[in-house]
Amino acid sequence: MSKITDGILKAVKQVKGGVLVDHHKDTKDMATVRITPPERVILPMQQHIGAPCSPLVKVGDHVDVGQKIADSDQYVSAPIHASVSGKVTAVSEVKVANGRLLPAITIENDGEMTLSEEIVPPKVENKADLIKAIRNSGLVGLGGAGFPSHVKFNIPDDKNIDTLIINAAECEPFITVDYRECIENTRNIVDGVYLLKKVLGFKNIIIAVEDNKPDAIKILKEIADSHKDNAVKVMTLKSKYPQGAEKMMVQSATGKIVPAGKLPADVGCVVANVGSVAFIARHVRTGRPIISRTLTVSGSAIANPMNVRVPVGIEASKVIDFCGGFKKEPVKIIAGGPMMGTALIDTDVPILKSNNALLAFADEIRTNKKERDCIRCGRCVAACPMNLIPTDIEALSLNKDAEALSKAGIMVCMECGSCAYSCPAGKPLVQYMRLGKDVIRQAGAKK
Ligand code: SF4
Ligand code: SF4
Repeated sequence: MSKITDGILKAVKQVKGGVLVDHHKDTKDMATVRITPPERVILPMQQHIGAPCSPLVKVGDHVDVGQKIADSDQYVSAPIHASVSGKVTAVSEVKVANGRLLPAITIENDGEMTLSEEIVPPKVENKADLIKAIRNSGLVGLGGAGFPSHVKFNIPDDKNIDTLIINAAECEPFITVDYRECIENTRNIVDGVYLLKKVLGFKNIIIAVEDNKPDAIKILKEIADSHKDNAVKVMTLKSKYPQGAEKMMVQSATGKIVPAGKLPADVGCVVANVGSVAFIARHVRTGRPIISRTLTVSGSAIANPMNVRVPVGIEASKVIDFCGGFKKEPVKIIAGGPMMGTALIDTDVPILKSNNALLAFADEIRTNKKERDCIRCGRCVAACPMNLIPTDIEALSLNKDAEALSKAGIMVCMECGSCAYSCPAGKPLVQYMRLGKDVIRQAGAKK
């Protein structure tokens, strides 16, 4: 059982592994600023885990804000909506943050921001209505994972799921969008929580926040306490990376261990990002799909770090310009956090629904250490929350030994970067993890 102190739950179990990182939450007290919509937006057909969408519009068409412009008939997918009104000027391949080329729809903004007639609040009376509404909204996990939310909440009837964990840990350094969500949109979070509770029948609801966010804890608790049923609890977690990883969070909040290859649902839990839950409440109230999101723009090379609300599809360069541009030549630009984000080669890439930060660093950051020989210190093993032995996996990856890699459990690696962060020899261990996974996939494809 977890302990309750001053009405706040303490984590049931402190999970193994992870690393203590410098938080650099420099933008936490900066209220979110809304950016002026840009002259054009670029909307790639895949902004989520799952099947890509196909365009529903063609070059020359006029579109309104919130109009559905792309969709897929596959279950694991999420539709895409216009984030500005104007004319479709291209349906062509564009480069995205990870360097891949994806088909995308470009819309020239007419400056009117006329709303689509498709924007109508959904009628939600039961589970089927809610799942349909979430799918139509285009919501994907806003914490960075990009998994379609309607799939996550469409809990099979044979699964006995009673616990909803709202993930407000935000353990990656620099990023403060979830923190600002807690401070600025607390009412939406609590409305979303109670909507999910009522329609999906969760018995236990835990809002999990790291203990370095006392203001968020206080305000969430006050609102949770204002409901007489006492069903929602706020839980503090030790500030430790990657506390926000789903499996770590389930273990911290409930003491249950999610086995390798299984999901939180297999131990009776659903974990949802706090921003996603707030969005669901907003969508059910207004009918507006996911056409904008908040980003933390920060790092030593950014002139004016801030939290900024941007239309989905705006180019990263325009967001950086809005934040005063670079005050120093950037050595590294990252979409996402410094631990799990994607390094950008250039900034002419569109912001996707799942992006939660743009960081630019002028100086050497810790991940840029020069690689040396392993000194067998074991720090990577101690840091791994998934009980892997990264230094062994490195050797197996280099030997391309698919069978041994599989036995070493590499597929449970969540690429959190804790091993590489703690390595004094500067080994790019996450790259070896990715290499090893590729070896297994290629071996599987040859069979
Ligand atoms: S091996 Fe994978 S899960 Fe373990 S610390 Fe490294 S990146 Fe994280
Ligand atoms: S942390 Fe680095 S140096 Fe230490 S055992 Fe792991 S790979 Fe080797």
